[in-house]
Amino acid sequence: MPFHPSPGGTRDRSTARPPNQAQAASCYFRTSVDPPHRKALIQICEPCNEKCRHCFVSATTRGAYMDWDAVRDRLIPQLLAARVSRVTLTGGEPTMHPGLLPIAASFREAGMSVGVCTNAVVLLDEQITMLAKLEAHLNVSLDGFSADSHGVFRGRPAAFAETVENVKRAAKACCAPQTTLPRTRSTPSSADSPRSRAPRMCC
Ligand code: SF4
Repeated sequence: MPFHPSPGGTRDRSTARPPNQAQAASCYFRTSVDPPHRKALIQICEPCNEKCRHCFVSATTRGAYMDWDAVRDRLIPQLLAARVSRVTLTGGEPTMHPGLLPIAASFREAGMSVGVCTNAVVLLDEQITMLAKLEAHLNVSLDGFSADSHGVFRGRPAAFAETVENVKRAAKACCAPQTTLPRTRSTPSSADSPRSRAPRMCC
């Protein structure tokens, strides 16, 4: 019988949290869900609008986009059967997917909570408004605290201001953006660590 984590689509924010010592993180975002639930990362597209030196999927501007009818009709039922209660939509850059909003809505209708992992270089007003309405949260990746450090990895210092501006716009719309900094050799440590300094902006 399919598993329905939250009939009616009401998201329980408490299901997304850092794992405790008895648990392994579900993913590199270091969040997990309580058993018997599971969390899944869904790569809804391959292309990206950035060219990060450290890209974990070697994204380019080319690649495939997941068919959103297939997400609704095939993927979601399979994930429900596997007891998945939370998904992170990723890429490539998921905001480049023309079906991002209907895909996110389909997951919410299935009762799952939704996160979107984005570089936030381009966030349309419609995307911010709708994602906020869906109570999705944004995981925004930063590679430093300045245009210089961020730009080293992105190859484009201007990306820092673009991302910060869009995080502010999302925060105003209550999209609950959370910044994530990958651990790299130039990432600050100890008191300057991402966890201690990265802003968590929730409204
Ligand atoms: S923003 Fe993410 S997906 Fe895009 S190139 Fe950078 S690491 Fe890869």
